[in-house]
Amino acid sequence: MQNVASKGLQRSLFGCFRQVLAYKYQWYGKELFLADKFYPGTQRCSRCGFVKTGDDKIGLDGNMKHKTKHNEYVCYECGVVMDRDENAVMNLLALI
Ligand SMILES: [Zn+2]
Repeated sequence: MQNVASKGLQRSLFGCFRQVLAYKYQWYGKELFLADKFYPGTQRCSRCGFVKTGDDKIGLDGNMKHKTKHNEYVCYECGVVMDRDENAVMNLLALI
């Protein structure tokens, strides 16, 4: 009798665990989607949160207005100079 009860408990715990996993997965999936879709990871300064817009944005050729390279992030607000990808990663890490 005891054995049956503990098996039932194990099963329900496992079911619960699976539900939590599915929930977490959906949550992370949604977050990643949002990050990818709306988060201006390459334009945002990971140090001060300044987001480049218009002429200040980094394009494929860098920035014409400020004469900065495409692979570096130069913040016009706090003056930090970073690798562009490194800055984008820092922005994503800040989301988690
Ligand atoms: Zn900055």
